[in-house]
Amino acid sequence: MCKKRHGVIHPYFGCKAALATMHGKNLAISPSFHKILQVSIQIPEEINTDDLGTFTGEIERKGTPLETLRKKARIGMEHLGFKYGLASEGSFGPYVYLPFVAQDHEMLLWVDDERGIEIVEQKISTETNYGSKTVSTWNDLEDFLEKALFPSHALIVRPNSGLIAGLTFKGIKNTNELQQAIMRCASASTDGLALVQTDMRAHMNPARMKVISELAEKMACRLASLCPACSCPGWGIVDYVLGLPCEECGFKTKQIVQEVYGCADCDYKYAAPRGDGVTKSSPAYCDVCNP
Ligand SMILES: [Zn+2]
Ligand SMILES: [Zn+2]
Repeated sequence: MCKKRHGVIHPYFGCKAALATMHGKNLAISPSFHKILQVSIQIPEEINTDDLGTFTGEIERKGTPLETLRKKARIGMEHLGFKYGLASEGSFGPYVYLPFVAQDHEMLLWVDDERGIEIVEQKISTETNYGSKTVSTWNDLEDFLEKALFPSHALIVRPNSGLIAGLTFKGIKNTNELQQAIMRCASASTDGLALVQTDMRAHMNPARMKVISELAEKMACRLASLCPACSCPGWGIVDYVLGLPCEECGFKTKQIVQEVYGCADCDYKYAAPRGDGVTKSSPAYCDVCNP
């Protein structure tokens, strides 16, 4: 939990922020914002964030994740007429360090039009069920269902040969529905296979909800920190200095030695030793000891 400043009322205290979501992400985000900042998260009605792209590919995602986040945050802020807004995006793929393991990369954007600032926080987690499998019949699916955490986590089924109108089944949470969907998609697919994918939409995926809620706490703590120079919210790590010395030979490795704290508004910055207390690098990362 982050440190609170005693005796100082935070500028966001009692404010409202917009969150454009169709997928119940407020359940993961609201508690930390309420507890840490006393900010209330409001959801605009009648919005369609799927216009900005879907995981299943019916609508292609355009632009960088940050551009999509900005558009999403604006949709919510404009609908509700709020100065503050939030948006969340996730992307899934192989884990950078272990390609056989899947990762969930979550991003959260805070927009503050009162001060003209934005803050991005991110979290990469391997606690995800992300995966897919092509099958011709239901019988080939058993080991996948366990890894996919079915039925507590939903599945999506479509023909493997490509998208066919009316044949993308989302949010499948029971065996009967799943069997039906596989039969219909496999027989419609030119190769006779159905593609079974994990449904990564937040309200269908408790593992993803958990990562979003951890990220929301990180963001709320970041926003709770005020710049020591100008008191703007969102004081936090903005950069890293590399060069952690090797514990064998003292050579400067490419590991992080200092964290640079900065403000979202003014230019004030300072570098501090790593927050995890690590002061020496393992020789495994040293170009001299382990070239
Ligand atoms: Zn060394
Ligand atoms: Zn500042």
